[in-house]
Amino acid sequence: MALRFFNTYPRKIEEFEPRDSTGNAVSIYTCGPTVYSRAHIGNFRAYIFEDLLQRHLELRGYKVHRVMNITDVDDKTIRGAREAKVPLAKFTEQFKQAFFVDSETLRIKRADEFPAATDQRYVERMIDMIRELIARGLAYQADDKSVYFRINKCPNYGKLAHFDLTQLQSTGRVKHDEYDKEHIGDFALWKAWDEEDGDVKWASPWGSGRPGWHIECSAMATALLGDQIDIHCGGVDNIFPHHEAEIAQSEGVTGKKFVRYWLHCAHLLVDGQKMAKSLGNFYTVPDVLAKGYTGRELRYALLRVHYRVPLNFTWEGMKEARESLGRIDEWLARLREIAKEENVQRSTPNAQRSIEPDFENALDDDLNISAALGFLFETIRETNRAMNENKRDATSAKTWLDWWKRINTVLDLESESEVAVPAEVAQLAEQRQNVRRENNWKRSDELRDRISELGWEVRDTKDGQKLTPRVTSG
Ligand code: AMP
Ligand code: ZN
Repeated sequence: MALRFFNTYPRKIEEFEPRDSTGNAVSIYTCGPTVYSRAHIGNFRAYIFEDLLQRHLELRGYKVHRVMNITDVDDKTIRGAREAKVPLAKFTEQFKQAFFVDSETLRIKRADEFPAATDQRYVERMIDMIRELIARGLAYQADDKSVYFRINKCPNYGKLAHFDLTQLQSTGRVKHDEYDKEHIGDFALWKAWDEEDGDVKWASPWGSGRPGWHIECSAMATALLGDQIDIHCGGVDNIFPHHEAEIAQSEGVTGKKFVRYWLHCAHLLVDGQKMAKSLGNFYTVPDVLAKGYTGRELRYALLRVHYRVPLNFTWEGMKEARESLGRIDEWLARLREIAKEENVQRSTPNAQRSIEPDFENALDDDLNISAALGFLFETIRETNRAMNENKRDATSAKTWLDWWKRINTVLDLESESEVAVPAEVAQLAEQRQNVRRENNWKRSDELRDRISELGWEVRDTKDGQKLTPRVTSG
């Protein structure tokens, strides 16, 4: 089955064909955090979806080059720095660092580059692009001294969002009085300095000011990935106006199709509403950790639903995530024990079930993670049943462990520590070892049953007793 994605631009599933003529290299641009506060777990749903995308492409042999920008200058960051009475760079730095810490907690692969909008190299590029847009009649300086993109000159404007231009409303990211603009939908490329900006300003041919949010991404994306990009991602709220504007600006300058595939994830919701800073209904990664959950559990909870389906965040969902991971952990512990038992006598040799590429195939289908996980849990159920029936052997266990290793390059859900054996279980196991030395098999069996009641399985191997969490079949 060929790899395919739902492309927001034509609003349909398309087969994936990268631009690279060798068919191997894939470039991805992902809109990163606006560092005016700690990112919430809704933002991380988007980043985990992008992580899944990258990891699956890599599993399929592609060489991914991914850029994620850091928006460290915009209305919100400037307002935050002003309120905190600290320089902008100092204000944003703490949230940048927090973003990296939280990403690591959630095991999100680092992008190859994290360009910051305030980097002088990119500011210069933004200015160059704006100059070019003005030269082509696609932008103008208004009476308020800000420079705006002229959407009426861009026939494709609105195609990504499937919007009718006459329906356009002000976006809230536009700072200046709309009467200065030719069209209500014209968006700022360069925002003229005003007092509220304090010392946040750069010199430009249009006077002091700062770049608009949209041009930041166009400049960083094309600077690092070239005029044309394979995949561009973000949350659905990025479609309009942000990504629409990115297309207009980038294509306005280069004259080439900017992005081949636009992928957008649905929102993380709380009580049916988008999780958002402005609504105050958000949790951060540390909020979830403070409730006793791990980053791995949160990763699972955010990963497990198809990226185009809205996901409601609940503590019940976190509990389910813990239970699902517990099943994976127990299964792996059992397989590992069996894999070590080279010389164990088996009632039925080789209960190996053939391994179909169902997991990868499900992900090929527009990253259908729910189907992929469904296949994983079905596999766990079946192999557990075989193990319960004593149809186990080291070779098949190793084959499953190799399979897990492969799919875990995408999931990254393995527990960091082996499951600890509770003290009571360890004591009973020790007693059992002693009575076996005395050939007291009756007592040995009683102790095995007692250990089993506590949820553990004891097996006798050439290296002595082995304890693994007991798994019920089904
Ligand atoms: P921002 O920091 O607001 O620019 O957002 C960073 C990324 O998070 C963007 O890709 C947004 O689309 C995405 N995002 C924001 N809120 C949510 C949410 N509740 N669920 C999923 N993605 C979101
Ligand atoms: Zn962006």
